[in-house]
Amino acid sequence: MERKGDHGCEFDVWQLIIPSAIREQMIQFLEAALPYESGGLLFGKRVMEEWMIENFQPIASDKPDAKNYNASPRDLVPIIMKAKASGMELLATVHSHPSSPAVPSRKDLKEAYGYRDLAHSIVSFAGMSPDVQFYRYEKVEHHVSFHPLTLKLTNW
Ligand SMILES: [Zn+2]
Repeated sequence: MERKGDHGCEFDVWQLIIPSAIREQMIQFLEAALPYESGGLLFGKRVMEEWMIENFQPIASDKPDAKNYNASPRDLVPIIMKAKASGMELLATVHSHPSSPAVPSRKDLKEAYGYRDLAHSIVSFAGMSPDVQFYRYEKVEHHVSFHPLTLKLTNW
């Protein structure tokens, strides 16, 4: 499907492909940080409308907090540079919700405004088992809305 010229929509990811081993790795890292929020970045390749996740880089929060996740640019920049050098692109941010559902908070949407070309994953530990969701954020007029993304698990 051609989507050229559709510059009104900067965001063209419709499906994310994630190896189950990477999903597990994310969950384990975030679970180990409980009761605090934690996070990281996902790298890989964009092939048309499919984004293939190849690598999870855990990044601990600057200050342990049960309701906030903050990664400092000091930690982020070298990781992004290294991934770029090995041919991978930044595809998604990840953070955990230790006790709330895997839905973007008002704060998440506000802070994500500058990162519209990325996907955003939230991993919730509020239920019986971890809930991993991916979203794209979109600014419409003066507010940011979110849309769930399809996730395809593979066994690579
Ligand atoms: Zn959040």
